[in-house]
Amino acid sequence: MSTQTPSHKYQVTLKNRSTVAERTMAFQFEKPPGFTFRPGQYLEVTLLNPAETDAEGNGRALSIASAPHEDSLMVATRMRDTAFKRVLANLPLGAPVQIEGPNGSLTLHNNTARPAVFIVGGIGITPVRSILARAAHEHLPHKLLLLYLNRRPQDAAFLEELTGLQKQNANFHLVPIMTAATGWSGEKGHLTPDLLKKYADPATSPLYYLVGPPGMVNGVHELLNQAGVDDDDIRLEDFGGY
Ligand SMILES: Cc1cc2nc3c(=O)[nH]c(=O)nc-3n(C[C@H](O)[C@H](O)[C@H](O)COP(=O)(O)OP(=O)(O)OC[C@H]3O[C@@H](n4cnc5c(N)ncnc54)[C@H](O)[C@@H]3O)c2cc1C
Repeated sequence: MSTQTPSHKYQVTLKNRSTVAERTMAFQFEKPPGFTFRPGQYLEVTLLNPAETDAEGNGRALSIASAPHEDSLMVATRMRDTAFKRVLANLPLGAPVQIEGPNGSLTLHNNTARPAVFIVGGIGITPVRSILARAAHEHLPHKLLLLYLNRRPQDAAFLEELTGLQKQNANFHLVPIMTAATGWSGEKGHLTPDLLKKYADPATSPLYYLVGPPGMVNGVHELLNQAGVDDDDIRLEDFGGY
């Protein structure tokens, strides 16, 4: 039986915005009555009558970072200097946008015997935050490992919250990895086969989820293939545009 939720267009208002890392903001939109989605899915967010626009148009694909049990629909993005993001950054609370969704199938597998290994670069954390918040809320039995790659801790959106989720959920292990941090006592540098082996045991048949900028996703995909991981066990979503 299909569990797909049909995608629809809605007009929703901005309820809140907050900074969740350096140059990175989260936006909370009202959740339309009856709107359902599966953690890991995304929305097409379109600005209505924006003051400026550019060649990419008025819409962007943005993953739903909130979990279904949470009140609002949250998205989060790196605030680069593009027309879409300038307008979004200045959108008054209460202003409407159009959302279309939910779309996508980067959702947690059903087989609880197989662990999930999330390998996430930067803002790729958005769909994974949703999956992890739901797993903690619903006490899912899946073993969940997150290798969370950022340049520095101040670039890592939701880091504190993820640390809290690890305390709530004994099945979840968070490994933040900083590629360019000084004074960071945790894991440092790029993901290597040795670092992967240190945390993810291939004997447990994990499913790997790769999310982030295309360069990072392609690089990790290659690394996994070289480590002998079959493509059947890899799910990926690259955030085109980064
Ligand atoms: C399924 C999905 C989920 C996503 N979720 C998020 C999210 O949660 N948070 C987030 O910040 N971003 C997410 N993105 C990326 C997002 O849609 C934007 O592309 C990104 O934020 C860059 O937008 P921008 O306005 O900064 O730059 P843009 O003006 O959109 O793009 C900058 C440059 O990248 C090129 N480009 C744009 N889109 C693509 C593309 N799809 N493929 C190849 N090149 C492209 C443009 O031509 C331009 O040269 C997601 C993308 C996808 C496909």
